[in-house]
Amino acid sequence: MAEKLSAVKGMNDIAAPESAHWEWLEDKIRQLMARYGYRNFRAPIVEPTALFVRGLGEVTDIVEKEMYAFEDKLNGEHLTLRPEGTAGVVRAAIEHNMLYDGGKRLYYMGPMFRHERPQRGRYRQFHQVGAEALGFVGPDVDVELILLACDLWDELGLTGITLEINSLGQPAERKAHREALIRHLEAHKDQLDADAQRRLYTNPLRILDTKNPAMQALVEAAPKLMDFLGAESLKHFDTWRALLDAQGVTYRINPRLVRGMDYYNLSVFEFVTTELGSQGTVCAGGRYDGLFEQIGGKPSPAVGWALGVERILELLKSQNRLPTAPVADAYAIVPDAAVLPQVLPVLRALRRAGVAVLMHTAGAEGMGSMKSQFKKADASGARFALIFGPDEVAQGQVSVKPLRAVDGQVVAQRAEALADAAHWAASLR
Ligand code: ATP
Ligand code: MG
Repeated sequence: MAEKLSAVKGMNDIAAPESAHWEWLEDKIRQLMARYGYRNFRAPIVEPTALFVRGLGEVTDIVEKEMYAFEDKLNGEHLTLRPEGTAGVVRAAIEHNMLYDGGKRLYYMGPMFRHERPQRGRYRQFHQVGAEALGFVGPDVDVELILLACDLWDELGLTGITLEINSLGQPAERKAHREALIRHLEAHKDQLDADAQRRLYTNPLRILDTKNPAMQALVEAAPKLMDFLGAESLKHFDTWRALLDAQGVTYRINPRLVRGMDYYNLSVFEFVTTELGSQGTVCAGGRYDGLFEQIGGKPSPAVGWALGVERILELLKSQNRLPTAPVADAYAIVPDAAVLPQVLPVLRALRRAGVAVLMHTAGAEGMGSMKSQFKKADASGARFALIFGPDEVAQGQVSVKPLRAVDGQVVAQRAEALADAAHWAASLR
């Protein structure tokens, strides 16, 4: 036998029944996005490497070590499997002049790729849903995005997700803070771990985000960006907060909340849970007013978030919120293959009428006994068996037998409706 092949490490197959949970979640998201006026956007999964290097920043984790970058064998182009969605959205907005007649709200969902150490809640191919509001200065739209996320948690029945917010101010304010921060860290250089040493002059803000317990006291005592914000930035932050307060949205101000990408300014936020171990951030985002210019567009304000689909699904599972959907409404039992010419059009008519029907198919031994067909019908998870025995078919009828006694009355009603539908379908022949 040929050698077995397996999926790439950190990249998962998603099969039934889990794939039904994905579809269910995606449907919920689509409906909610529509209600908020966010329209679907689909970008290519491969983009020029330069987009991420310029958009995310050269010294970010993603660009430094997480990108699946490669050279196109045919024309030598430098390409990258997208590690996130925002840069592609902004690239497209510039390329197609999407903001010519005002702001745009859009959302995307799909796979992202980062070369990380695979663990619970952290994969190499993972999926994000992102919502982006392009061309709006906020902070009203920053609030809208938060409410959108909160409504999604409610819609999904999720609890225990808390919101953390911060302001990153504007580049000049960050520069002043950065200098003070470097001075503080330099004064305690002996306490910095290797990662922090490496980032000291390239991305010191990111050091504040360290998970190393030995460095907590040091980062706790570090100068806070909040203290460097000017009047305009503080006003944006305060208005954002006041609007959140007015909606009864609770949050915690986390002065150490910075984001992985360079492009953020002003509002930044994360939704976190304590239920997923160390991979507790389920959704994160913020304002990125500088990104359009950074990748060659006209300056345009923008804000957005991205949620991790795998983490949301895991939370749904642990909070028992995933639906248990039956595979099919009915399973068609066909004792004798000779009646198939009459059976197939009935099943087709039922499906056209909206009934999900699974048909018994022949094995190597033919159709099999009634007993074995009933076993299969039962195992399929279908609610009803439709029996196409020779007598039934001869009379243009079909017997409907409930397989599951979920709720007696419901089953009886459904059986009746199904019998009607089957009868009607049969009459179409
Ligand atoms: P972390 O600090 O956990 O690495 P991040 O700042 O890199 O997160 P973002 O780039 O903001 O994450 O992505 C938004 C969301 O996407 C995260 O909050 C998380 O839910 C999800 N996510 C990010 N990376 C992964 C991954 N490798 N596997 C699964 N989900 C991920
Ligand atoms: Mg990361």
